[in-house]
Amino acid sequence: MTFPPEPELDDLYRELLLDHYRNPRNKGRLEQADVSVEGYNPLCGDEVQLMLDLDDGVIKDVRFLGRGCSISQASASMMTTAIKGQKVAKVRHLIEAFRKMIVDGKGADPELGDLEALEGISHMPVRVKCAT
Ligand code: ZN
Repeated sequence: MTFPPEPELDDLYRELLLDHYRNPRNKGRLEQADVSVEGYNPLCGDEVQLMLDLDDGVIKDVRFLGRGCSISQASASMMTTAIKGQKVAKVRHLIEAFRKMIVDGKGADPELGDLEALEGISHMPVRVKCAT
């Protein structure tokens, strides 16, 4: 009888995560943000501030500022690329799909795009809060 292998991020996904961590997309400040929200993860000190520019129910622009572990910052970067230009209703759906994947371990929705790279995190309970 064999045991399943240790859950790990596969190499391709690890590369994608590192790329977003080293070259974060949409990082910076929106001067005229319609919405600004902050998230803090006391478990490892991750901080993310998200700023949105909304226009007629569409996320016209998005930026984030933050610091913390590679997972939290890569997740924030990937999320901005997934939601930019999308309708708010669609983004709600993406958030729900992301939670299902990461928190409930229900697998990735193809619409999540690069965020799918974080699926392996669902097997690492202590990092779930970093990703979300
Ligand atoms: Zn973290």
